[in-house]
Parts: sequence; C-alpha cells; structure tokens
Amino acid sequence: MTDPAVALADVRSRIAQAARIAQREGEEVTLIAVSKTHEAPAILPLIEAGQRVFGENRVQEAAAKWPALREAHGGIELHLVGQLQSNKADEAVALFDCIHSLDRPSLVTALARAMDRAGRQVPCFVQVNIGAEEQKGGCAIADLPALLAQARAAELPVVGLMCVPPAGIEAAPFFALLDKLATDHGLAGRSMGMSDDFETAVMLGATHVRVGSALFGARG
Ligand SMILES: *Cc1c(COP(=O)(O)O)cnc(C)c1O
Repeated sequence: MTDPAVALADVRSRIAQAARIAQREGEEVTLIAVSKTHEAPAILPLIEAGQRVFGENRVQEAAAKWPALREAHGGIELHLVGQLQSNKADEAVALFDCIHSLDRPSLVTALARAMDRAGRQVPCFVQVNIGAEEQKGGCAIADLPALLAQARAAELPVVGLMCVPPAGIEAAPFFALLDKLATDHGLAGRSMGMSDDFETAVMLGATHVRVGSALFGARG
C-alpha cells in the first residue's frame, strides 16, 4: 500500500509538470479523485491531505458514503463520472456538484426538470463516445450538435465535453479530437485523462482529470 498523501503529491506534481510542458498553468486543471469502490477510511487520508474534489460513478454508492464525509469536512465538491439513469436525476442533482455523463436527449429532459424542481443548477459535461465504440456510453460525435442544441434550449448549464477513449490504444488522438470538438462548440471544459494517461490529457488541454487507481491503488 502506498501512502495516499504521497500518491496525491505525486499525481499533483505530474499534473504540474505536464502543464508546464504545454505552457499551461497547473491551476487550470482540476484533479478529481475518483473514489468509487473505496470506503471512508481510504478516502479520509486524501481529505486530510487537502484534496477536496472527488468523483463517484454510482448515485447509490455516493449517497451512502458522502453525506457523512461532507458533514465532517468542509468544501467537498462531488462529481458524477458514471452513467446516469433518468429516474435518478433528482437524486443526482441533490447530491452532485457536477455531472460528467450527460449523453442523450432523455437525460437532458430529466436533468432540466430535476434542476428546476430543486432550484439548483448543476454544471454538466456532455460525454462523447469518442472512439465510436458500440458498448460504450456517450453521445455519438454525429449527434453532438443536436444534443448541445437541446441542452441549450433547456437551459442546462453545459460547461464542456467528457470522454473515455478506447482501452489498449494510444489515447492522445482521442484527447486531441475532444479538444477540437469542445473548441468548435465554444465550450471551455475538457474532462479527459485517467490514471494511465492524465499527463497526456493535460498536455492536450484537459481542464478536469479523473484519477482513481493512481491515488487509491487498484480497485478490488
Ligand atoms: C473509474 C473511472 C475513472 C478513474 O479510473 P482510473 O483508471 O482508476 O484512474 C475515471 N473516469 C471514469 C468515467 C471512471 O469510471
């Protein structure tokens, strides 16, 4: 087991180094510590080391873990990085400060209603199926303009694009493509890069990296 505080310092310095190479400021990049499958005892050391932005991929799991952690520690920001079912939109809007998995028209409708009901605007990233993989979540590139238009019409706060590139091949071309799509659509946010490739993502314009195993160790 590596010390979580040491792992955090290492990831932070690698982000800063990648940003420097790309002539960016390290502060432009938000590190989301993806704590899915890990319980409070594994999360606490990171909070104590100063990390405040966390990611979860399941509404139910986040609802079980985070209210108590938030009660005890101020300034926590929670991001949903996993697929969202429309019938959990209300719960997601109540619990999360940012949603990275907006990917279809029915979810635009459900989230717009949920935010209206809650009187709470939660920034959203549109997830793009950047490698056109059949089994993967995310909106097809061809469907992106229509989905963004629908989201804007519904007054959803869309702040950027998110992707998970195909496994097993070089991620850089997919990060570059997401960056271009975001630019084309006038969106500032790029949620891309995970434990194996966050430095590449930072060099290619990531504003949010989602890092799990490099901070917490491998998931069981
Ligand atoms: C689990 C997960 C991550 C973190 O993955 P690691 O490889 O452990 O860093 C990032 N993004 C999404 C969408 C995930 O589901």
